Amino acid sequence: MKIAIPTETQVGERRVAASPDTVKSYVKKGAEVWVQAGAGKGSSIPDEAFAAAGAKIAQNDFDDPDVVLSVRRPSAELLKSLRPGAILMGGLEPYGDRQGLEAIASSGVVAFAMELMPRITRAQAMDILSSQANLAGYKAVIDAAHHFTRAFPMMMTAAGTVPAAKVFIMGVGVAGLQAIATARRLGAIVSATDVRRATEEQVKSLGAKFVYADIADAATSGGYAKELSAEDKAKQAALVAEHVKGQDVVITTALIPGRPAPVLITPDMVESMKPGSIIVDLAVERGGNCPLSRPDEIVEHKGVKIVGTVNLAGRLAGNASPLFAKNLANFLDLMIQKDGTLKVDEADECIKGTMIARDGALVHPMFQGAR
Ligand code: NAD
Repeated sequence: MKIAIPTETQVGERRVAASPDTVKSYVKKGAEVWVQAGAGKGSSIPDEAFAAAGAKIAQNDFDDPDVVLSVRRPSAELLKSLRPGAILMGGLEPYGDRQGLEAIASSGVVAFAMELMPRITRAQAMDILSSQANLAGYKAVIDAAHHFTRAFPMMMTAAGTVPAAKVFIMGVGVAGLQAIATARRLGAIVSATDVRRATEEQVKSLGAKFVYADIADAATSGGYAKELSAEDKAKQAALVAEHVKGQDVVITTALIPGRPAPVLITPDMVESMKPGSIIVDLAVERGGNCPLSRPDEIVEHKGVKIVGTVNLAGRLAGNASPLFAKNLANFLDLMIQKDGTLKVDEADECIKGTMIARDGALVHPMFQGAR
């Protein structure tokens, strides 16, 4: 079995889909691992570290790999070079750019979009959304603190008291929970909201205040949120409008799978905040929780800075890559047989749930009918 790890080609992507540890584990299972020269640079993993773990360093193209591991969609050139039936797994962005997905399918590879991993206990160790969102939640708070012209913790000094910053986290999934914990560690007064009622206990257990409108629980059986009814949206908006007025920092992380991000912070709400306040919109790549946020821009609107940095986890590539790599290794383990050969068992819930393409076609149920 030949496993290939390319250098990521999307602009600004610093992560890599393998770590020296995962390379070691593949080699131990009898695989030949090829890492493209320089693939680990953005994560501070030199070629030598991959080589020491047993990888071969590819200076040019890969020679007919059985498996390609990638953080994002691979380049068109790499796709073209793969043989039909080869396995491709990574963050293939299944909700975006249909043409790109069709190109993946028509290359004939068996492709797995790791974002579609089912939210079941067994799948936690393979869940790239969790491992990356956790880092993104942390980084969002650090970025907010960086742009804020005041301090987060309360400080009593001879010259006067510095008040603690008020930080509001919207969306208490994996990123939101880490954002709450990080803001608390920095000494802020933290509040948070979500549309899934179960998050109340989690918010309180982290020492933050839970803000919740009188709305129906919007949790699905899969553990995600669904879109609110128009009436509940209005109730939530009224509560949020009142609450954000007094906040110094708002971090928005709200997502609904397969849908644009819900709008939570309207321009009116931004204008109600004090000058110098900061909004970090983690949902910016999916349309944003604030209509004023722009991908990879810092927009200043009436004295409020709206930070739209994309791929926050990728900015912590030194941590993000090993975690991502381990998620992929755990998933590939499901397919590696004792004799070192590969078997794709479509009866497995995790394999079936993430397989988007096979035999030249897009096969996931989410693609059926829709165009
Ligand atoms: P996500 O990234 O899809 O969304 C982030 C948060 O935004 C969610 O908490 C969601 O409820 C919230 N949200 C959506 N619309 C909102 C709105 N209008 N207002 C406020 N908040 C809104 O979520 P996630 O981080 O992927 O986590 C979702 C759930 O899945 C969590 O309960 C998490 O613990 C669980 N989970 C389970 C597994 C597993 O069992 N394998 C793995 C990861 C996460």
